[in-house]
Amino acid sequence: MIDFHCHLDLYPDPLAAAHGAQQSRAYILSVTTTPKAFRRTKALAKGSERIRTALGLHPEVAHERYRELALFEAFLPEAGYVGEVGLDGSPHVREHATIQKKVFSSILSLSAKQGGRIFSIHSRRAADDVLDSLAREPNAGIPVLHWFSGSKTQLKRAVDQGCWFSVGAPMARSASGRGILAALPKDRVLTETDGPFGRDGDRSLEPGEVSAAYKALSQLWAMPTGEVERLIRANLNRLARSLEETRRAPA
Ligand code: MN
Repeated sequence: MIDFHCHLDLYPDPLAAAHGAQQSRAYILSVTTTPKAFRRTKALAKGSERIRTALGLHPEVAHERYRELALFEAFLPEAGYVGEVGLDGSPHVREHATIQKKVFSSILSLSAKQGGRIFSIHSRRAADDVLDSLAREPNAGIPVLHWFSGSKTQLKRAVDQGCWFSVGAPMARSASGRGILAALPKDRVLTETDGPFGRDGDRSLEPGEVSAAYKALSQLWAMPTGEVERLIRANLNRLARSLEETRRAPA
């Protein structure tokens, strides 16, 4: 099982969530929303070979947390993965678009300077702006767009720019989401829960609980579930290898 976007530190009981994550034996990318949260979230993964902790600064808090960019820069050498970062064009944060873009661009440029990273990126109602920012920093690393909800045109642009995608079962609940899932390049797809925000009815998905995502992809791709699972696993291996290669390469 691969859960490439999960907020272990935002479950009501983070220690229990981390324990559950370890028990699930899933490979988990544990994302953070502020640089301040990075060290203690990383501590949750201690002793687990299958959990990686990403250094993030979420666009919905960028206007309150931009001063933590210094901390972001300080922690970046110890983080192979960066997320959750990106842009959000929803009405409640739209007025902070300028500061969001500054923060995201700084993160991409710092990552480029340090040899590139793998990103888990939020792009709600801001897909074109995210893709513009990525195009300006081609050496930032590999972008994985999480829970992508843009248009078909934006999806094509993202694919052309080399983006990967992490997708969850909640996406399969809408016709537009199913359209995106069906159109994704299969060799650049990972699964995610986005727990505790990703839900199944009235409860949060557990860390690593991606079987419904495999099932949805199996239906939409007309492929046995086991084959979907093998494909996603092979994708993660390839992505992780490319991270090792980028970080080994001389600057
Ligand atoms: Mn998230």
